[in-house]
Amino acid sequence: MLIGLQVWMKLLVGSMNKRVAIIGAGPSGISALRAFSTARDNGIDVPEIICFERQSDWGGQWKFNWRTGLDENGEPVHSSMYRYLWSNGPKECLEFSDYSFEQHFGKSIPSFPPREILEDYILGRAKKSNFRDWIKFNHSVRMVENQENGDFLLTVEDFNSKKIIKETFDYLIVATGHFSVPNVPEFDGIETFPGRVLHAHDFRSAGEFKGKDLLVVGASYSAEDVGLQCKKYGAKSVTFSFRTAPMDFIWPQGVDERELLTSVNKKTVTFKDGTKKDFDAIILCTGYLHSFPFLPQELRLVTTNRLFSPGLFKGVVWNDNPSLFYIGMQDQWYTFTMFDAEAWYARDVILGNIQLPSKEERTSEMREWDDRENNLEDAYGMIDFQADYIRSLMENTDYPKFDVELSQKEFKAWKKAKEKSIVSYRDQAHSSPVTNKLSPVHHTVWWEAMDDSMESYLKD
Ligand code: FAD
Ligand code: NAP
Repeated sequence: MLIGLQVWMKLLVGSMNKRVAIIGAGPSGISALRAFSTARDNGIDVPEIICFERQSDWGGQWKFNWRTGLDENGEPVHSSMYRYLWSNGPKECLEFSDYSFEQHFGKSIPSFPPREILEDYILGRAKKSNFRDWIKFNHSVRMVENQENGDFLLTVEDFNSKKIIKETFDYLIVATGHFSVPNVPEFDGIETFPGRVLHAHDFRSAGEFKGKDLLVVGASYSAEDVGLQCKKYGAKSVTFSFRTAPMDFIWPQGVDERELLTSVNKKTVTFKDGTKKDFDAIILCTGYLHSFPFLPQELRLVTTNRLFSPGLFKGVVWNDNPSLFYIGMQDQWYTFTMFDAEAWYARDVILGNIQLPSKEERTSEMREWDDRENNLEDAYGMIDFQADYIRSLMENTDYPKFDVELSQKEFKAWKKAKEKSIVSYRDQAHSSPVTNKLSPVHHTVWWEAMDDSMESYLKD
């Protein structure tokens, strides 16, 4: 009874004198910081915000790291990104509605930029937002405890001072990403393989596989991109191995697709269809695990990489404890735009601008989204699902409107272009749902563009 009263009082007092912890300063954490700083800049009283980031700088996945394994503090390396990574979706479909690409670069740029360009764009908005001093870098959140009065007690390791600190917060936003802890399956005999076996998380440079026969396990974005890129930079052959369904693209010469491997005997790999082939290296592009080792069971999201996140109302609010929020936990068609829409929603719940419906109503709405996802038939349905999800968030907040319908159209055109040609979909131009302008075509076709530097990309 006393606990209920205290939580009630907390809501009544509003956001004044409240403390919000954000874990992670990747794109999702940055969206949350941007949401609060926008409110602050509009003269609204915002709570005290502290963002804990375990890396030495912001950007999350986009902070490319040459290291693999552990970082300089002995933490698991976070980023799974690699050299020569170009956006695999049209940039127009991830464009911030309050900060267009054109605004950032001073001109319209092509639709599939390399990593450095996207990083520059994401951080460009962050740098103009005046919230960096809300972030404590080199701070790793070790443990979260839910106190009796509803507060969250965080135990944090500060790598700068080498101290453990403990602080309490009224609200918690978890923005730690979900593409960092690799899912590494076991295959019969793989320990006898004499060459390199690695997960996509540890892949850094295609150059390493030049002249090699490469086996890539998996049939999703990482497999497609890592395998194709290795071919582009000189791998002798690339064989994809799928568990559920092949990707079925029209592959360039020297690339093929087979069923799942059943065993490995030294260099020789046997596949389910009985075929065999010798390889020099194996890359496991077998996805990632949602991992929140710092959270207690009752606050922990348990999910696979899917569109509806179980336990999260509006994909954001922890249904069993609406003082806890997650951002960016879904399988991602939309990325930065969706993180923004989620962040604005979380912010407005915290500021008291959004009154949440009853738990029963929330549960019922969540069931509808869950059912809808379970009945989706194809990728086009997934795009529509996530677009509607973003609409359902935006209708509750003042996140600047963008043309969601146009973004759906562009996503579908992109999907079709990939089906037509996996090596040239990046040579297409898409229209911006923020500025409504059609982007220019890049000066060099992707398959021949070996230099992914910002300087080369921005050349007219
Ligand atoms: P992250 O970027 O993963 O950031 C999470 C942050 O949380 C990190 O900075 C991490 O250090 C911090 N953190 C984690 N645990 C703790 C802790 N305990 N304490 C403190 N801090 C912690 N998206 C696109 O839109 N376009 C692309 O082209 C694209 N390419 C991708 C390529 C790869 C290989 C991968 C893996 C993903 C790609 N993505 C792409 C998706 C990408 O996940 C998102 O763009 C985005 O980075 C997700 O942002 P996030 O903030 O949710 O997570
Ligand atoms: P993912 O989309 O979750 O796909 C995981 C893949 O691993 C699926 O094909 C799955 O097969 C397979 N898999 C899982 N367990 C397996 C097992 N035991 N045996 C065989 N196969 C198994 O993960 P992802 O491909 O790593 O993509 C993660 C994110 O990174 C995406 O958001 C993507 O957009 C991003 N990304 C972007 C780029 C880029 O922009 N250039 C490049 C790479 C990645 P099933 O189909 O059978 O489940």
